[in-house]
Amino acid sequence: MTTGPVIVIGGGAAGLMAAGRAGEKGARVILLEKNRVLGRKVRISGKGRCNVTNAGELRAFIENYPGNGEFLYSAFHKFFNDDLRQLLESLGVSLKVERGGRVFPQSDQAADIVNALERYLQQGAVEVRREETVRKILLEKDCVTGVKTDSGTVNTSCVIVATGGKSYTATGSTGDGYRWAHEAGHTISPLRPALAPLNTREEWVKELQGLSLKNVEAVLRAGDKVLGREFGEMLFTHFGVSGPIILTLSRWVARAEAHGDLLLQINLKPSLDVEKLDNRLQRDFQIYQRKQIKNALDDLLPKRLIPIIIKLSGIAPEKFVHQITRKERAVLIELLTALPLFVSGCRPLDEAIVTAGGVSLKEVNPKTMESKLVQGLYFAGEILDIDGYTGGYNLQAAFSTGYVAGDAAANRLGY
Ligand SMILES: Cc1cc2nc3c(=O)[nH]c(=O)nc-3n(C[C@H](O)[C@H](O)[C@H](O)COP(=O)(O)OP(=O)(O)OC[C@H]3O[C@@H](n4cnc5c(N)ncnc54)[C@H](O)[C@@H]3O)c2cc1C
Repeated sequence: MTTGPVIVIGGGAAGLMAAGRAGEKGARVILLEKNRVLGRKVRISGKGRCNVTNAGELRAFIENYPGNGEFLYSAFHKFFNDDLRQLLESLGVSLKVERGGRVFPQSDQAADIVNALERYLQQGAVEVRREETVRKILLEKDCVTGVKTDSGTVNTSCVIVATGGKSYTATGSTGDGYRWAHEAGHTISPLRPALAPLNTREEWVKELQGLSLKNVEAVLRAGDKVLGREFGEMLFTHFGVSGPIILTLSRWVARAEAHGDLLLQINLKPSLDVEKLDNRLQRDFQIYQRKQIKNALDDLLPKRLIPIIIKLSGIAPEKFVHQITRKERAVLIELLTALPLFVSGCRPLDEAIVTAGGVSLKEVNPKTMESKLVQGLYFAGEILDIDGYTGGYNLQAAFSTGYVAGDAAANRLGY
C-alpha cells in the first residue's frame, strides 16, 4: 500500500528542489537535514556566487557530463536551465549570464539561491526538520517502509535520497547515501575525485602560490599520448596547481593515477606560434639589450614567474640580454610554450569539487529517478554516478534530478 509522506533526505540543491516540487504538487513532504543550515554546499558554490546553471542549449549541455550525460536527457526534458531560471526568478532571484554562458544571481550572493528555494519549500508547506540525521532506510521485500533518524522512525513508502557526494564533507555530504544504496542492493561505481586540484613534484610551485594565469593552455600527457587540453585560467598553489582548466583536466589524472607521473605542459603564450614568439622575444631583447635578462621579461610574463623561468632555463639571471645566444632563446621559448610540471596525483576526494562515481545509473529509472530494485526509493543529485565540468553543470544536474524525483514521488502518492 502506498502511504505518505514523501521523505526527502538531504537539504542540498537536489533535496531542496525535490521537496519543493513534491510540495508544489500538493504532497505532504518532510525534509530531513542533518545540518542546522540548509544548502551549505550551495552557499559556498562558485566562490560564494553560485554558478547556478549554464545558458547552453541541450545537446552542448549534455556533452559537459563526460561519460554519463545521456542519462540526463529525460530529466532535462522535464526541467532544464530555462525552467530553473524561471522558477528562481518567480521566487525573487534576478539572474545574469556571464562568459561561457555561466548563470549567476545578479547579487553575486549564493545565499540568495538557498533563500529562494526555502521560499519554494514554504509555498509547498514542506515540513523541514533541521539537525535531523538519518541513520537508515527501512526496507521490506524490496519496498521502502520508512527511515530511522536519531530521534525516531518515520514510516513512509516514499523516500528520496539526496545526500550528495563525498567531498567537502564539512558541508554535510559525508557519503551516507552510498551505504544505504549499497544495503538496498545497488551497485556503487567507485568514488573518485572529479574537478580536483593537482599535486605536482616541483618545489618551485610554492614560490608562485596564489598566482593566477589567464588565457593559458594546459596540455596533460601520459608519455606520447595527449590525455586532455584546456584553455583558460589556472592557479598555482602550495601543493601544485588548481583553477578551472586544471579542475577539468583532473578527471584524466584520477583515472590514470595508477600509471605513475603525468606531464602537464603550460603554454603561457598560446596565441603566438613558435615563430611569432621568437620574433616577439627578439623585439623585446632589442629594446632591453642593455638590461640583464632578469629585468628584460616584464612585458612578457607576470613578475613572479620571471625568476622561475630564468632558473629553469639555466641562464644566469645577471647575463646581459645582448649576450643571450640563439640556443638560450630557444630554451626560453620551450619553457614559455611548454612549462613542464610533473603531476603526482589529484588532491584527496574531500578536496574535490565533485565526487565522480556513485549509484549506478543502470539501476535507476531516468524518467523518475526511482530505483529499479526497490519500490519507492528515489535518488537525486550528486549521489548518482554523474559528474559534470565546471560551468553550472553540476548544480543543474542536481536541480533537474531533484525536480524529477520530487515530481515522481508526489505522483506515486496520487498527487
Ligand atoms: C567549493 C565548491 C564549489 C562549487 N561550485 C559549483 C558551482 O558554482 N556550480 C555548480 O554547478 N556546481 C558547483 N559545485 C558542485 C555542486 O555544489 C554540487 O554538485 C551540488 O551541490 C550537489 O547537490 P546535492 O544536493 O546532490 O548534494 P549536497 O549539496 O552535498 O547536499 C547534500 C545534503 O545532504 C545532507 N545529508 C547528508 N547525509 C545526511 C544524513 N544522513 N541525514 C540528513 N542529511 C544528510 C547534507 O548535510 C547536505 O546538506 C561546487 C562544489 C563545491 C564543493
